[in-house]
Amino acid sequence: MIAKLKICGMKDPLNIRDAVALKPDYLGFIFYPASKRFIADLDPVVIRQIPLPVKTTGVFVNEELDVVKKAIADYQLKAVQLHGQESPDYCRALSNDAEVIKAFGIDAAFNFASLKPYEDAADYFLFDTQTAEHGGSGKTFSWQLLEQYKMDKPYFLSGGIGPESVASLKQLSDHRLYAIDVNSRFETVPGFKNIEELTKFKNHTMSYFVNEKGYYGDFGGAYIPEMLYPNVEELRENYLKIINDADFQKEFHALLKDYVGRPSPLYLAKRLSARYNANIFLKREDLNHTGAHKINNTIGQILLAERLGKKRIIAETGAGQHGVATATVCALRGLECVIYMGEIDIHRQAPNVARMKMLGATVVSAVSGSKTLKDATNEAMRDWINNPVDTHYIIGSVVGPHPYPDMVSIFQSVISEETKKQLLEQTGNDQPDYVLACVGGGSNAMGMFYHFIDDEKVKLVAVEAAGKGVSSGFSAATTYLGKEGVLHGSRSILMQTADGQVVEPHSVSAGLDYPGIGPQHAHLFKTTRAEYVSITDDESLQAGLLCTQLEGIIPAIESAHALAHLEKMTFTGGENVVVCLSGRGDKDMDTYMKYFGL
Ligand SMILES: *Cc1c(COP(=O)(O)O)cnc(C)c1O
Repeated sequence: MIAKLKICGMKDPLNIRDAVALKPDYLGFIFYPASKRFIADLDPVVIRQIPLPVKTTGVFVNEELDVVKKAIADYQLKAVQLHGQESPDYCRALSNDAEVIKAFGIDAAFNFASLKPYEDAADYFLFDTQTAEHGGSGKTFSWQLLEQYKMDKPYFLSGGIGPESVASLKQLSDHRLYAIDVNSRFETVPGFKNIEELTKFKNHTMSYFVNEKGYYGDFGGAYIPEMLYPNVEELRENYLKIINDADFQKEFHALLKDYVGRPSPLYLAKRLSARYNANIFLKREDLNHTGAHKINNTIGQILLAERLGKKRIIAETGAGQHGVATATVCALRGLECVIYMGEIDIHRQAPNVARMKMLGATVVSAVSGSKTLKDATNEAMRDWINNPVDTHYIIGSVVGPHPYPDMVSIFQSVISEETKKQLLEQTGNDQPDYVLACVGGGSNAMGMFYHFIDDEKVKLVAVEAAGKGVSSGFSAATTYLGKEGVLHGSRSILMQTADGQVVEPHSVSAGLDYPGIGPQHAHLFKTTRAEYVSITDDESLQAGLLCTQLEGIIPAIESAHALAHLEKMTFTGGENVVVCLSGRGDKDMDTYMKYFGL
């Protein structure tokens, strides 16, 4: 459940200022003289100067139309909320001046059929607790009554919603629920809101980021065997403290700069831009040491492991990219390194196995099950259970039990942090129109999205691997094919059969060949904050060749998926589009050569 927030019944100028800073979607002012929260002689300037995107909303009860129209003009209201017996024609008469929210008091006797005449008269409905005083009772109505509401029109939910409503709100899954309206339950005295409580409420119910319990909306959590609990708990208790420590930040950023080679350039790709009729910027993670974004995370996690007093590092790897990034930082810091890898993958990815060995890692072959990534993950888990004190497990994407998805996204967020600065320098505006990134587990995408997530003007596009086609049976298009379930320690969306067996994914790019996505992606998908699309093997390889021949940059096939989606977008010219070039294509030369007969 994610909805917009409306804070209603404001009247104190300083309290209004503090509420605006919280960036609610709507801020309501009561123009009904009989209300305890009537704005009375509040200076219209206070309301007029509230900037968008906060929509100032006037609340009226059976008021003369002319008075409402004058208030809209005088206070520059963006919306009106009508709380009396206003007719559909009355609503229509205001629809050119402001958004119209028509409120109804709900109780067991309410006839939902009576809403029909308002369907094309109001922009939204607002369902409040039925009272004689036109709302503001502080009481909730039974939300079960909304099962009788059959229309498509989105609605505001109001009436007695307070700090303790968070859990029950999260259980609502109604796509028509547009906004939550809060009022008296967040007040110290009528008309004066407790900003601290509102902040907490907003962070818990409305956020795209993780909450205290490790959830992103319906997704996340820590679904782990009991034996792993102490290890994960130690991490959960310490990760934010350690990461936010000034000394940690200093060391992390020094290594990113001098060892990884950051900041990675933001490159305006002129010939791609000409082809697509937009400004195409490539965020060059391919230029990092070891050739991809994965090193950002392994550097962060090894510094964290050191501060937790760990002497030994384990990791699992499929294609070997994460194994190499992990073995690299272990060599850098002189820590013992054990990499679990499926027996089949060891044969398929011989060059990466050689790199890991040369870096001093022990590569352990997982010989059970399908002898691939899933089995390597099981072996790594078993190792961690047996070595809880001295070992840290480095997970390579925004997957796994809480706090891994959050921790990995924080380490990768340097991608969007730099992008914002670089865009500002190069274009004078740090807000791109679009950002695109490929999604395996989703760590480069999360890093690319991170600092843009709360800025809804920036469109986020996540590109999954369609393999041979989404309906071919050989695909890794998780959001298209998947259902909600638990994978690798967290609740997310994953490809599974009707009885919950994980479906073997397929993609030409090993890094995208994963049957799930991280829980934050599942949340961004479900809330539609980000758009999830998919690209076939063929489309990605063609896009890889195109980028190579237009820009002289051979991208990893993973990254080529993100580039391929540009072909399907239409631009009017002038849009700024950032594509995360997550890695370089050296590792993929065999695949490219075979495909193009080079
Ligand atoms: C591993 C990898 C990916 C996929 O992982 P995410 O966690 O989804 O970012 C993408 N690109 C490259 C180059 C990779 O090595």
